[in-house]
Amino acid sequence: MISTKTRICGLIGNPVEHSVSPEMHNAAFEKLGLNFIYLPFRVTPENLEKAILGMRGLGMVGFNVTMPHKASIMKFLDEIDKTAEKIGAVNTIVNKDGKLLGFNTDGPGALWAFQEAGVNFKNKKVVMLGAGGAAKAIAFYLMSLIKKLVIAGKTREEAQSLAKDLKKYFKKEIKGIENNTDNLRQELKNAQILINATPIGMAPDINSMPIKTELLRSNLTVFDSIYNPIETKLLREARKIGAKTINGVNMLVYQGAEAFKLWTGKNAPVELMKKIVIKRLKNVN
Ligand code: NAP
Repeated sequence: MISTKTRICGLIGNPVEHSVSPEMHNAAFEKLGLNFIYLPFRVTPENLEKAILGMRGLGMVGFNVTMPHKASIMKFLDEIDKTAEKIGAVNTIVNKDGKLLGFNTDGPGALWAFQEAGVNFKNKKVVMLGAGGAAKAIAFYLMSLIKKLVIAGKTREEAQSLAKDLKKYFKKEIKGIENNTDNLRQELKNAQILINATPIGMAPDINSMPIKTELLRSNLTVFDSIYNPIETKLLREARKIGAKTINGVNMLVYQGAEAFKLWTGKNAPVELMKKIVIKRLKNVN
């Protein structure tokens, strides 16, 4: 029941209509008997500062931030977590006694998903497709655990720019290449983990793949950050040849669970959240 004690969280982005986060978080609040509500707010870039002022004025508990505001919102916050600062993107804000604190829970969400799938990173070479927001968040959290990272960007420059940023903080082998078949054939030969952090294969473009099927091998672990569809073409092809596959649903749920904990101080009911997300995604497609 909404009452005078109800605490408000939410999501700001543009668009927000597709988001599963309101259903996921509201079900989690209800399950734990917390008097919280999570609402979506469509905010255009011109209105971002006003939205932040409104949230401060209304004393909201916190909010998630999605495209296109993950980087531009940082200048309006009072403090930013060190790793989120390095990543250059914030997806969760906590209002702590009037101070707005920024975090990035995408990276921890991805790590949690890998851990749950039993992936061991020690001495592993990872090839990551993409050098955008999700790629940065994943890379900054993964780097200290793995041996080597190869970033395959749409252009070599984009990939090398992320590699250069990472090298400032990690004394590891990190390389940026262009995503093309020859380069990937070479790099995947002795890699154990492949991560897709591009939107290629995401609904409605479900018949596309970010790499050619022939490059997949049965001894690879393939992680796709895309959660819609739950099984992308990349994962389907990888599964068919016997590779271990991990979809983006757990990353979505666990980034939400990390935000939930920051707002409420409680562990989120992740199994319920997964059920809600999967049900919703199955109904969409
Ligand atoms: P983004 O910031 O736009 O980054 C996407 C990156 O992929 C861009 O750098 C883009 O390059 C690059 N790219 C496009 N085509 C490519 C190709 N053929 N080869 C290599 N790189 C290519 O988007 P994002 O926020 O990182 O999101 C990426 C995906 O992750 C989306 O599908 C999103 O839904 C998913 N995601 C999932 C979660 C989750 O919780 N599961 C969380 C965050 C994101 P250009 O900019 O040059 O086009």
